[in-house]
Amino acid sequence: MVYWGLFIASAVISVGIFVLLFFISAPYGRHVRKGWGPSISSKWGWIIMESPAIIIFFVLYAISDVKAELLPIIFLVIWMLHYVQRDLIFPFFLRTNKRMPLLIMTFGLLFQASNTYIQARWIFHFAYISDPTAYSVSWLYDPRFIVGVLLFIGGYIINRHADLVLRNLRKPGEKGYKIPFGGMYKYISSPNYFGEILIWVGWGLAVWNWAGLLFAFWTLANLLPRARSHHNWYKETFPEYPEERKAIIPFLF
Ligand code: NDP
Repeated sequence: MVYWGLFIASAVISVGIFVLLFFISAPYGRHVRKGWGPSISSKWGWIIMESPAIIIFFVLYAISDVKAELLPIIFLVIWMLHYVQRDLIFPFFLRTNKRMPLLIMTFGLLFQASNTYIQARWIFHFAYISDPTAYSVSWLYDPRFIVGVLLFIGGYIINRHADLVLRNLRKPGEKGYKIPFGGMYKYISSPNYFGEILIWVGWGLAVWNWAGLLFAFWTLANLLPRARSHHNWYKETFPEYPEERKAIIPFLF
C-alpha cells in the first residue's frame, strides 16, 4: 500500500512537472534568477541532491534476501556506474560560478529519495514476491534486457561525452557561455539530456517493471522542456547559432 501510494503520487506529480516546465524553466544553471530564495554552491547542491540514489539503493540491496543472486548484483553495478559518477565525480569537475536555489536542491533530494526507493524496493523485494523466478539468470538472454543494457551504455557514453565537451568550453575561472561543437552537438543542443533519456529508457527496458517506466517518464518530463529552453536560449544569445541544430531529438525537435 505504501509502495503503490508513493508510486501513484510520483506518477501524478511527474505529469504536473512535465506541463509546468514548458512554462517555467527550473531556476538553476543558465536559467537561474532572483526570487527563488537562499542558494547553495552548485557543487554541494549536486552532491547532496543526488546522494539518496547511492545510499538508499545500496541499503535496500544490502537488506535484500536476493543480494547474492546475479541479476540483482548486475542492476546494482549498472545503477552505481551512473550514480557514483553523477554524485561523487561530476560535481567536482563543474566549471560554474552559478549557485543552486535550496528549493531546487530540496526538490531534487525528495525526488531522488522517493524514486530510488521505488526502483530498488521493486527490484530487490517486490519483484520476487509477485514472481519468485523474477530476474533469474535466463533474464540475461531476454531481448528486453539486452536492448535495455545496450541503450543504457550508449546513453551513458553520449551523456558523458556531451558533459565533457561543455566542461572544456570554459577554462578554469571562466564564466561565460560558448557554442558547443563536436559529437552529437552537430545535430542537437543538449546531447547530455538526450543521453540521459536513453540511459533511463534503457533501464526501464532492462528491469521491465512499472518503476523503470516511471523513471523513464520522469527523465523525459524534466529534460524535454529544459532542452527546449536551452535551445531557445542559444538561438537568442548567439545570432550565428547553427540553423540546422535541433533541441534534443536529431532532425525532429
Ligand atoms: P547543463 O547542460 O545545463 O550544464 C552542465 C554544465 O555545463 C554546467 O556547469 C553549465 O554551466 C555548463 N555549460 C552548459 N552549457 C554551456 C555552454 N554553452 N558554455 C559553457 N558552459 C556550459 O546541464 P545540467 O546542469 O542541467 O545537467 C547536468 C547533468 O545532469 C547532465 O548530464 C544531465 O543529463 C543530468 N540531469 C539529469 C536529470 C534527470 O532527470 N535524470 C535532470 C537534470 C540533469 P552553468 O551552470 O554556468 O550553466
